Amino acid sequence: MIKFWNKRLELGVLTENLELDNELKAIQKEIKDQVKKKFAGSLAIRMVDSGSCNACEAECNALANPYYDLERLGIYFVASPRHADVMLLSGIMTFNMTPHVKEAYAQIPAPKWVITMGDCPAMEGVFEKTYAIKAPAKDHLPVAHHIKGCPPSPKEIIEGLLEFLRKI
Ligand code: SF4
Repeated sequence: MIKFWNKRLELGVLTENLELDNELKAIQKEIKDQVKKKFAGSLAIRMVDSGSCNACEAECNALANPYYDLERLGIYFVASPRHADVMLLSGIMTFNMTPHVKEAYAQIPAPKWVITMGDCPAMEGVFEKTYAIKAPAKDHLPVAHHIKGCPPSPKEIIEGLLEFLRKI
């Protein structure tokens, strides 16, 4: 037991990355300020999956955990496009999903924006173009910003949201 505790003290804490923590804190602070300034402190996002492998959604789920805690910054994922300011679109725009994505976009009250996430909706080489794939999403919707990656990490998604907020 003593051997274990000696080793534990010698190694220190291995699960924290202080560099990432500080970088993230700076990004989060700016996001909070931008949301306050441009969306009166509350930005509602409707996530729409147009035919993804679900890895992009899994990374987005991590944004709700206590470490990233997007809601603390004033950004909320909502269940209805009617309550949203922004559509966050993942997936390859399958033949079957494309009309539903367009319908969801039509239901978002103006002013509204579309952010695509992952390489799929930008058709950046993940799949071959076939009759069943209608990507890139920009052929169907006015895409305001794109977050690259396959899938993008939670940090990359947060950075992407900040880039979007700076842009508008
Ligand atoms: S971009 Fe990659 S991770 Fe995201 S849905 Fe497409 S294949 Fe999956």
